[in-house]
Amino acid sequence: MGMLVNLKCNKCGYETNLGLGGGRTFNRLESVISFFDKEIQTKIRELADGGATWNVYKEIGICEKCGKISAIAVFKATDASGKTIEYHSRCACESYSIDLKDFMQVLDGKETIYCPACGDILEATHTGYWD
Ligand SMILES: [Zn+2]
Ligand SMILES: [Zn+2]
Repeated sequence: MGMLVNLKCNKCGYETNLGLGGGRTFNRLESVISFFDKEIQTKIRELADGGATWNVYKEIGICEKCGKISAIAVFKATDASGKTIEYHSRCACESYSIDLKDFMQVLDGKETIYCPACGDILEATHTGYWD
């Protein structure tokens, strides 16, 4: 089950609602493969076919190019040799330069996210769950 998180700026009123973590069907490659680009899809399939253990979840992503905050899909795998491989999806602006934030840390107040509109601190609230 994934978590719904609201990020809100009390200064300028900016807010966004993000579906984070993992959904019920995220253990099936076919449910998650479309989050990623064609090129990455090929690499993911190779890893999965090669017996790598993997999981997919959504994390808070701050785009370093356009500043947008969105839920970014992360694919994390451990291949047969024990090496960790990680891929993530792109921002809506097509950039791969994304600063990923652990949303549990953000909810705990251990990580701070700043408002993309005015730069003030965003308040993070856990608002519910999603499948
Ligand atoms: Zn962007
Ligand atoms: Zn603001």
